[in-house]
Amino acid sequence: MNQSRSILIIITGGTIGMMQDPFSGALKPFDFDKVLDYIPELKNFGYNLQSVSFNPLIDSSDISPEIWQDLAEIIESRYNEFDGFVILHGTDTMAYSASALSFMLENLSKPVIFTGAQLPIGALRTDGKENLITSIEIAAEKQNDIPVVPEVCIYFESKLYRGNRTTKVNAEHFNAFQSANYPYLAEAGVHMFYNREFILKRKQQESLLVYRHFNNQIAILKLFPGMNRDYMDSILNVKGLRAVILETYGSGNAPTEIWFLKRIEQAVAKGIIVLDVTQCSRGSVELGMYETSRHLLNAGVVSGYDITTEAATTKLMILLARDLDNTEIKKLLNTSLNGEITLPQ
Ligand code: ASP
Repeated sequence: MNQSRSILIIITGGTIGMMQDPFSGALKPFDFDKVLDYIPELKNFGYNLQSVSFNPLIDSSDISPEIWQDLAEIIESRYNEFDGFVILHGTDTMAYSASALSFMLENLSKPVIFTGAQLPIGALRTDGKENLITSIEIAAEKQNDIPVVPEVCIYFESKLYRGNRTTKVNAEHFNAFQSANYPYLAEAGVHMFYNREFILKRKQQESLLVYRHFNNQIAILKLFPGMNRDYMDSILNVKGLRAVILETYGSGNAPTEIWFLKRIEQAVAKGIIVLDVTQCSRGSVELGMYETSRHLLNAGVVSGYDITTEAATTKLMILLARDLDNTEIKKLLNTSLNGEITLPQ
């Protein structure tokens, strides 16, 4: 137990932002002052736990870049006061929010742990209680006075994942998230096991830099056999479009038909960035491996490697809002900024 740790709990909403009255069953907004009645174990930490709550609390389907800005600003303004941050958030879009925050908070040297629940705190079989307790423990964990996990993460159902590697894959089970292309960073069993070699190393002396702006002139074009040409045209001709995430098959493959390729070439010629992200949850885009992706490479399509759609979307929106030209943006898309892609050796 360490008395000196301070953790800020930021409550945005979602199922974990609700508490179920054990007698009436009614759901009420999470009141952190009352949470100690439900989770008296929190007192055992002996930490200075403080909270800030969004008003109103929101279902995570209503998450927007403005909320990400609010979150980043809370963290930035209280960065020096706290050893770590825990964000209570609905699970539905948690992977987008964790990805966004990972790109917004450059030089982060403290833990920012997102967590949520499939059943509200107060419900008999809630998963929220354990998720909250362990997230606080991880946010406070230090070795030689240096935070063990200086990253934006998601903690859920005994696993800690890098935030920008996760996807919500299960709407039913407690085990709701996966990080298919990157190992988990920690596992809570009888002991906490930290997968140290996979955790980002940070330069503690660099100061936090926050990218707060987003440009949403992007689109996602998911391929499917039989795709209508007009549908593709309507997406690629959206006014002001700056980038499109092309969700391709397998290792980044797409039809070889001339009409399809022509449209991709025209988009690239207009200055639209086309980022190839595979529809497969595991594995990476390898442009040029098959004839069905060589033509994309020749057309100027950019490889997304093994990035998730959630990370690709938020990374693009942040890069497009920075004062960068397309060449620089493409270079950064092919750079692992915060561990979001695995580059070929
Ligand atoms: N609909 C809820 C949300 O994402 C579900 C949850 O919290 O898990 O806000």
